[in-house]
Amino acid sequence: MEKRQELYAGKAKSVFTTDDPDRVILQFRDDTSAFDGERMESLDRKGMVNNRFNAFIMETLSAAGVPTHFEKRLSDTESLVKTLEMIPVECVVRNIAAGSLVKRLGVTEGEALSPPTFELFLKNDALHDPMINESLAETFGWATADQLAEMKALTFKVNAVLKQLFADGGLLLVDYKLEFGLFKGQLVLGDEFSPDGCRLWDAETREKLDKDRFRQGLGGVIEAYEEVGRRIGVSFD
Ligand code: UDP
Repeated sequence: MEKRQELYAGKAKSVFTTDDPDRVILQFRDDTSAFDGERMESLDRKGMVNNRFNAFIMETLSAAGVPTHFEKRLSDTESLVKTLEMIPVECVVRNIAAGSLVKRLGVTEGEALSPPTFELFLKNDALHDPMINESLAETFGWATADQLAEMKALTFKVNAVLKQLFADGGLLLVDYKLEFGLFKGQLVLGDEFSPDGCRLWDAETREKLDKDRFRQGLGGVIEAYEEVGRRIGVSFD
């Protein structure tokens, strides 16, 4: 597999073409951003930690029957994935109230959400990822009704698998964001799953062990990512 030119640089990952048009390489960088890219910092080891974390989660999901773009980890900071046509809609499931939900609805952080909630956001930094719904997504052609139904079903399937995985490591999966894309017409999970895109709390102390440590300036960001990784069986050696 030959790595060719950079196709796109996101806030934390870069995408490179390869000699196979159906495969691209994701490079996980040390860059960390918050507030739609308003705050940027480089955190030592982050690329390696998130690449390994994501590989572990994608393999776990794939084994549980969730179709993903993940092919294999190539190096400490690179993974090979299928080339997707991305759907510009972010799917968020919440098991516990936190983040924007608390701000928007005035509910208490930490409140258990039963049943878990499902939200859609438009992937658009310039507009600050506004909340949308199925009607808007269909009308503006961001996703079809069938794709939205499948995205919702897969996002909840991910919840069942990962809630248990994290619970076994003494962690609460508070909420997370997923992105999907199409590979030769098939809907598959894309992007990444790492503590950058989810909230994880210690089940006993409720200590935050995810990107909120960066957003809230709590320090120990990468140490927390490694701690949650270790608890679920990710190897960082
Ligand atoms: N999230 C994300 N990217 C985004 C927005 C949200 O990965 O652009 C994740 C976030 O880390 C959290 C979940 O989605 O795990 C719900 O985020 P929320 O709506 O509470 O927004 P935030 O508080 O992150 O602005």
